[in-house]
Amino acid sequence: MNYNSTRNKGIRLTASEAILKGLSDDGGLFVPESIPKLEKSMRELSELDYKELAFEVMHLLLDDFTEEELKKCIERAYGDNFDDEEIVPMSFADGTYYLELYHGPTIAFKDMALQILPHLLTTAAKKNGVSDEIVILTSTSGDTGKAAMAGFADVPNTRIMVFFPDGGVSDVQRLQMVTQKGQNVSVVSVKGNFDDCQTGMKKILQDASFKEEITSKGFRFSSANSINIGRLVPQIVYYVYAYCNLLRNEKISEGDKINICVPTGNFGNILAAYLAKKMGVPIDKLICASNKNNVLTDFFETGVYDRRRDFHLTMSPSMDILISSNLERLIYFISDCDDKVTSDMMSKLSEEGRYEITDRMREGLSDFLAGYASEEETAGEIKRVYSDTGYLIDTHTAVASAVAFKLKEEGKLSDAPLVTASTASPYKFARNIVLALKPGEDFGKLNDLQMVDELEKLTEMPEPSAIREIREAKIRHDKLIAMEDMKAAVAEFLN
Ligand SMILES: *Cc1c(COP(=O)(O)O)cnc(C)c1O
Repeated sequence: MNYNSTRNKGIRLTASEAILKGLSDDGGLFVPESIPKLEKSMRELSELDYKELAFEVMHLLLDDFTEEELKKCIERAYGDNFDDEEIVPMSFADGTYYLELYHGPTIAFKDMALQILPHLLTTAAKKNGVSDEIVILTSTSGDTGKAAMAGFADVPNTRIMVFFPDGGVSDVQRLQMVTQKGQNVSVVSVKGNFDDCQTGMKKILQDASFKEEITSKGFRFSSANSINIGRLVPQIVYYVYAYCNLLRNEKISEGDKINICVPTGNFGNILAAYLAKKMGVPIDKLICASNKNNVLTDFFETGVYDRRRDFHLTMSPSMDILISSNLERLIYFISDCDDKVTSDMMSKLSEEGRYEITDRMREGLSDFLAGYASEEETAGEIKRVYSDTGYLIDTHTAVASAVAFKLKEEGKLSDAPLVTASTASPYKFARNIVLALKPGEDFGKLNDLQMVDELEKLTEMPEPSAIREIREAKIRHDKLIAMEDMKAAVAEFLN
């Protein structure tokens, strides 16, 4: 199995090379040249535990890793660092199965991939005889940064640098990042939004002369963002697992279809669900749920992607994105893997801020439904689900839940069981959760950690240890830079 760039099929790498590289030199993303089918039936797969299933799924896509190598990576990634034995437990509330992807160390779904990526990457380096120190550059809308650092901190022969938008993340997210320990980590905030951070980072990764300079010093860049195929592949596993869970618990019969709803930002998580479908999981519709930054909703409705619009800061900051990187992979797949078409559209996006897909490509979107939730609808959904069922969802999950609810009301969603990806612990976004549960009350004087106390009082659910840790932790990173200075900050870090 080879991987090629979405912008040039001539660039072909093995899986481990693609993981090492992160982003293709032409700016394209790596995609498998064909999508493999699951080798076992869903019934057989439903008898496996999470780690066994992870191997069954991942070896198909990372086929140049030996069985021993891959199993070792999986073993190290999914253990006691998760606070639930099942790794991804599922809760049923209000007619929906919430797939809880936030039981890892940083209490957001990014852990699902970032607990394993460092192992995949260091194994890939070994396999390919790479002795350079690997430098991970990461731009974050809030959750990736912390999760990546948690995975890479003090991993030998790696360094990690995180860029986050100043003022664009929640207080808990910020504290989690700026208190990060580790000899090999650096965190800086950037005057700009997430798109600025991501664009700046991609520019650095494509800067040939800078790359030469750091290569001569014994470094090599890679990325921990979902542009890295090593992020995407582990995310396919939990969608297979969700189906297996329903089958094992006799909620469905083999072959029954399910719908999956995903709160979407950079389009990585939902793309993993799309790949799970293409690999053979019986999925009817994939629901792409957006917040007020609804560029994707418009895209699915009209076939036009237009990022020329206002950027909004919302209560679901990890979805505050106007340039969804992974959509490029979908564009590639629905164009029948046409690298020229994909490349042209991505040029248009960066030059004109807009592109339109063909009618033929639009047919490929029939796997999806899309919708968005306003801030009021999101807050209302948190309160509705909690009042009706006693189950608490975070602000991102609430966007997805609200969108699925609306589509159901409008009769656009089939009766198949609905699995909604629950992407973060409510404690990570305590302020907005409390405000949603107690609308009209004034909590203006309380800081975010005091809001966590309020949430604990309200719900009697104990705060997770990830929150307890940041209460006393020392601030270790306090640099704020302009977007133009990102490259200089990287150079300084490597000196
Ligand atoms: C990153 C993130 C998302 C968006 O996921 P994408 O893969 O970027 O679409 C949604 N919710 C939470 C909590 C996140 O951290």
